[in-house]
Amino acid sequence: MPHPATPAADSAAHGLPDAAANVPPGRAAPFALLPASFRSAAARGIRGRCPRCGEARLFARWLKPAEHCPACAQDWTHQRADDFPAYLSILVTGHLLAPVIIALVSDFELSPGALAAILLPLAVVLMLGLLQPAKGAVIALQWWHGLNGFVRERRPDRDEPGPA
Ligand SMILES: [Zn+2]
Repeated sequence: MPHPATPAADSAAHGLPDAAANVPPGRAAPFALLPASFRSAAARGIRGRCPRCGEARLFARWLKPAEHCPACAQDWTHQRADDFPAYLSILVTGHLLAPVIIALVSDFELSPGALAAILLPLAVVLMLGLLQPAKGAVIALQWWHGLNGFVRERRPDRDEPGPA
């Protein structure tokens, strides 16, 4: 344990290899933990995990990302998701509810009040439930493409040695 209380020591505490000890703070995760593709980064973000290393939670609170990843020290203050996650949530909620609305209207003779009583709470729950995954995906998108001050990082090819 060479340097206690350094980000590298934190990384070691989270099960990361010692290779992280030689890279500067902020770039502490070994390249092996970088996602292989945008899909992989987005999947991590959707699950609420750090898109860069997948080893720690991305969000400190519901929609508030952690300032830094506790595992790889990635700085998440660059993210500018703004309203985009809300647009995505509404879009996906609409697509999920469309067949339900069609089925309710065509198969059941429900009053408009009954329809609203079923659909409005369902829509609110779906939309709120999708907000955090959507925000995780948007942050992963910004990080993957190096937007807003994020450093664009890619995993080296398997036969290339990673930086020691
Ligand atoms: Zn991380």
